[in-house]
Amino acid sequence: MDGKADLHLHTTFSDGALSPSELIERARQAGLTTISITDHDHTGALDEGAAAAARQGIVVIPGVELSTTVGDADVHILGYFINHRDSRLQEYLALFRNERLKRAERIVGKLNAMHLPLTIAAVLHQAGGGSVGRPHIAAALVEEGLIGTYQEAFSRYIGSGKPAYEKKYMISPREAIALVAAAGGLSFVAHPSTFIDDGVLQELIDAGIDGIEVVHPSHSPEMVAHYSSIVSEYFLLASGGSDFHGGKRNDREAFGRYFIPTEQVDMMRRRLR
Ligand code: AMP
Ligand code: ZN
Ligand code: FE
Ligand code: FE
Repeated sequence: MDGKADLHLHTTFSDGALSPSELIERARQAGLTTISITDHDHTGALDEGAAAAARQGIVVIPGVELSTTVGDADVHILGYFINHRDSRLQEYLALFRNERLKRAERIVGKLNAMHLPLTIAAVLHQAGGGSVGRPHIAAALVEEGLIGTYQEAFSRYIGSGKPAYEKKYMISPREAIALVAAAGGLSFVAHPSTFIDDGVLQELIDAGIDGIEVVHPSHSPEMVAHYSSIVSEYFLLASGGSDFHGGKRNDREAFGRYFIPTEQVDMMRRRLR
């Protein structure tokens, strides 16, 4: 019988609210049998996650979410089945995290110039040692009483195109796909609805992407059908998940609702060989 697989989850090692063990406990409660932990630029959750999952009888696929850029579009690439001990992969992840830190400092500088006295220390406190991202900046702004809501941070200051926005250092999808492949993994384009353009999707297919994240909370039923047809047309693999972060995101209800049958995970494993 097919189980349920959620292959897109975040923990405190990036901008998620739950520790790996807490996440596994939630996965068990939600009836998931396979998950992938896909923190941004970080694999620190994988060992704790695997140990906790083994105790619960849940399968954890080692994952990571990388940020790439195509023109003006932000394209996230999910790497699955990676050997997270691969030294070259870890060198790159360390570089990406350091670039995230420098970018957070630039954003804080811009916010200070806009008379919001936020400190980088307050942001790093939110990040708790994991990959620093805009969600931590938004949370710190709320925590320090400088703005009213988490969402306001994005709509007024740090959302794309807003005055304190800063681009992240990003590699090309081709580089990300090569990095994941060299670490023994498969690459999937995450939530393609966030950049929509089928021309970009075609570029990713030409660059050798292994699959598409078909199931995602941001995808309408029409989008799921559309991406499924592209998967079939190009003999790609299909992934899916909740992209659950927890905490201030208010995405609690997504947990357990966005999944793929584990049969599709078996198909991924066959492609690995
Ligand atoms: P970063 O990786 O630092 O660029 O942060 C990206 C994360 O910020 C995304 O995964 C979203 O969760 C969050 N984010 C980006 N734009 C918005 C927005 N307009 N509203 C709420 N959250 C956002
Ligand atoms: Zn995230
Ligand atoms: Fe993403
Ligand atoms: Fe994500």
